[in-house]
Amino acid sequence: MTSPHSAGAADGKLIIVSGPSGAGKGTVLRRVREEGLFPLVMSVSATTRAKRPGEEDGVDYFFLTREDFLARRGRGEFLESFEVYPGGALYGTLAEPVMRQLKAGKWVVLEIDVKGARQVRRSFPDAVSIFVQPPSFEVLEERLRGRGTESEESLAKRLAQAKSELASADEYKYRVVNDRLDDAVADLTAILKNC
Ligand code: 5GP
Repeated sequence: MTSPHSAGAADGKLIIVSGPSGAGKGTVLRRVREEGLFPLVMSVSATTRAKRPGEEDGVDYFFLTREDFLARRGRGEFLESFEVYPGGALYGTLAEPVMRQLKAGKWVVLEIDVKGARQVRRSFPDAVSIFVQPPSFEVLEERLRGRGTESEESLAKRLAQAKSELASADEYKYRVVNDRLDDAVADLTAILKNC
């Protein structure tokens, strides 16, 4: 993988996965990782949003205060960082663990929004980019409501964001429609075999 950040034949791959909240990116990725065909590691992002029940610091995210996040951003520690939902929490990819894992030959998966993806593609033009989308907007809304983790206000923000994210799907090299989970897992596996 060549980029301004690193070079060398032994390097791994950088894989960007985006898609609206509720498209099922996390579930599809978990299934593909469980198959164990590729040396995939998930990048752990930093965020200023509140921890959800069951989430663990350092596993799901690094949960940072806004102050700490901004200080790290000021020190240039992020490959990219954005307010994913306007006026909401900050999310960002810490550079150090990503670069270390790439050098170790891992396939590092960044599960990030479309703005973050654009930023990363500028620095890593040969990153593999994949957009996971729901079969329809209505299915997405049902899934998000069914998850029961969001307030009505947060749900409305996520749905508005989903509309604009779906419009960016063709910026990605590959697209996976997550209708039946098994099919989406097979599609993602085929993409990774050929990338
Ligand atoms: P959630 O709050 O549901 O965990 O994540 C919301 C959205 O934030 C996800 O759909 C994901 O695309 C995006 N996201 C998570 N981590 C990052 C990150 O490090 N950078 C960017 N740009 N987006 C992120």
